[in-house]
Amino acid sequence: MRELLVKSTGVVRKIDELGRIVLPSELRRVFGIHEGDELEISVDGEHIILNKRLDVCLFCSSDKDLVSYKDRRVCSDCASALGTATPREVRLDESVTTST
Ligand SMILES: [Zn+2]
Repeated sequence: MRELLVKSTGVVRKIDELGRIVLPSELRRVFGIHEGDELEISVDGEHIILNKRLDVCLFCSSDKDLVSYKDRRVCSDCASALGTATPREVRLDESVTTST
């Protein structure tokens, strides 16, 4: 028997007249869900499950020219932007790395 790891957040939300609920901002922050992001809705028995779409770019939610990296998708635009931005911003001063 498969056990679903259900953990209550203790948050109760009312559904409005259009069937909408608001995801608490704390949850959105923890799960990295931003305005405009798409969530896939699944069901498991009595449970309704929301999953972040993983087949869109992690950064800009584009679904064009995606490449996979560690089970996440990144579009070619963001990938090339990262490729040029990362070495310059992340590299430590050499005196910092050699003095320790
Ligand atoms: Zn992107």
